[in-house]
Amino acid sequence: MANSKYEYVKKFEADDKLPPYNWIVVRIDGCHFHRFTADQEFEKPNDQNALDLMNSCAVSMMDQFPDIVFAYGVSDEYSFILKETTQFYQRRSSKILSLFVSYFSALYIFKWKDFFPHKALELPPFFDGRVVCYPKLRIVRDYLTWRQVDCHINNQYNTCFWMLVKSGKSVKEAQELLKGTQTKDKNELLFQQFGINYAKLPAIFRKGSCVYKDKVEETVKLDDTGNPIKRVRMKVTVGHFDIIGPKFWSEHPNILEE
Ligand code: ATP
Ligand code: ATP
Ligand code: MG
Ligand code: MG
Ligand code: MG
Ligand code: MG
Repeated sequence: MANSKYEYVKKFEADDKLPPYNWIVVRIDGCHFHRFTADQEFEKPNDQNALDLMNSCAVSMMDQFPDIVFAYGVSDEYSFILKETTQFYQRRSSKILSLFVSYFSALYIFKWKDFFPHKALELPPFFDGRVVCYPKLRIVRDYLTWRQVDCHINNQYNTCFWMLVKSGKSVKEAQELLKGTQTKDKNELLFQQFGINYAKLPAIFRKGSCVYKDKVEETVKLDDTGNPIKRVRMKVTVGHFDIIGPKFWSEHPNILEE
C-alpha cells in the first residue's frame, strides 16, 4: 500500500521488544474477583467448577500459543512461561500481553456455560496482566515457588476463615481470631474445631494447578492381527504437584530445559 504523508505517526510507537535470552512470564489475574465471585455465588473458599474453568482456559492457551512451556494457576490467576528463545511477535511486550489477556478473557466467557450450565454470567469477567523477564532459570523456579507459597498461605487462611464464618462467626470475629496466627495454629484450629486434616484437603486447593506438555502413549488403531498400534504424542496435561522441591522438575526435565 502506498505510503501516505501521515505514516510518520507510526514513528511515535515505542519499541517494546523484550530482551533476548530471557524467560518470559505473563501473569493474568481476575479483576475485582472478590466481588465477581460473590455476585456469581462461588462456593467458598474454593469453587471446584471455577478452578476447572480456569484450568480449561489454560489448556486452550497452550494449544493456541505453542511457545508456552508451562503454566501455573491458583485462585483467579495464571502464570504462563514462554521459552527463553521464543520469537513470538518478535518478543513485542504489548502484543504478547494483550493477546494473552484478551484470549484468556474470551475463553473464560466462551467456556463459562460448560462449567456453570445453571448459572448465567451476571456481569462480564475480565483480567489484567503483566509481563516479567527473568534472565536465569533459577529465578523462574523461584518465581514459581513464590506463587505456590502464596497459594498455600492464602488457601490455609481462607479455609480457616470460611469454616469460622460458616460456623456462625461474623467476618470481623473470624478475622480477629486469625490475626497473628502461624501455619501450625491454623492447622490446629482446623483439626480441633472442625475435624479437618489440612494435608488431606484436595491437592488442587493446596498446590494449585500445573499445565504442561507430557508424553502420552495412544492407541491409533488395531493392526490386521488385532494388536494395538501405538504412538507417543505430546498432550497438554493438568496436575497438582509440589513445584517447590526438586522432584517434579527432575521427573520432567524437558519442560524448562535451557
Ligand atoms: P484485583 O482486581 O486487585 O485482582 P481481586 O478481588 O480479584 O482484586 P485477588 O487478590 O485477585 O483480588 O483475589 C481473588 C478473589 O477471588 C479472592 O477473594 C478469592 O477468594 C476469589 N476466588 C478466586 N477463585 C476462586 C474460586 N475458585 N472459588 C472461590 N473464590 C475464588
Ligand atoms: P491481524 O491479526 O494481523 O490484525 P487481521 O486478519 O485481523 O490480522 P486486519 O488488518 O486487522 O487483519 O484486518 C481486519 C479484517 O477483518 C479485514 O479482512 C476486514 O475486512 C475484516 N473486517 C473487520 N471488520 C469487519 C466488518 N465489520 N465487516 C466485514 N469485515 C470486517
Ligand atoms: Mg490484580
Ligand atoms: Mg484478582
Ligand atoms: Mg488473584
Ligand atoms: Mg486485526
